[in-house]
Amino acid sequence: MKKFYARCFLISLSDGYMLFDSGYPADFNAVMSGWPHALYKYLLPVNIKPQDTCLSQLEKENIKAEEIKYIFISHFHADHIGALRDFPNAKFIYSKREYTRLKKLSVFKQVSKGFVSKFLPDDFESRAIYIEDLQVVHNEIFPVCCVLPFAKDIFVVSLPGHTTGQFGLWLPHENTLFAADSAWTKENFTEDALPHWIGLHFCDDVKAFRKTLELLKSLKNTRIILTHGDE
Ligand SMILES: [Zn+2]
Repeated sequence: MKKFYARCFLISLSDGYMLFDSGYPADFNAVMSGWPHALYKYLLPVNIKPQDTCLSQLEKENIKAEEIKYIFISHFHADHIGALRDFPNAKFIYSKREYTRLKKLSVFKQVSKGFVSKFLPDDFESRAIYIEDLQVVHNEIFPVCCVLPFAKDIFVVSLPGHTTGQFGLWLPHENTLFAADSAWTKENFTEDALPHWIGLHFCDDVKAFRKTLELLKSLKNTRIILTHGDE
């Protein structure tokens, strides 16, 4: 069985910290008991120890949960939103369109699409900064590119396919793109090797997914950071 890491990333801002996604929480397996949630555990078994969570790793670096001011949510799969409840002061940057689309589905459909609303804090909506409200800037590489209001050198970019409304963060000054699940491994775009069938099962739009892979392939000098990459 192949192991995939479910990572999240810490970005230092001039006045605090932002997370790119949250990873899984320590109580993942307890929350996911019972039907239909156990289906997710069956398809994607999760092995997480308390010391592996984002929160524990930040504490080791002497960063408190309260110091996380923002969490950018690339998309709503459980491995990206699972630990949002660990960060009480964070504002959440996400696509309102994507969230509204998922909220309308039945619980079974949500879980079969990898979305588990139980992981959202009760005040989730009141802490939102919607991507749709951000200032759009012209950019030749990314068709949809918006600027973060609190960090003018960080851009939100559209990376559709894996989910309909997946977004990444582009840091041109660091030559880095946080590309979430646009690919599972680098070989998906460097060698045109498509992912395992489970990866494609959790893919909303295979055609758009391939188009996003082409985009990643074209970014020759950009460091592309994937959530599930090996490096
Ligand atoms: Zn995903």
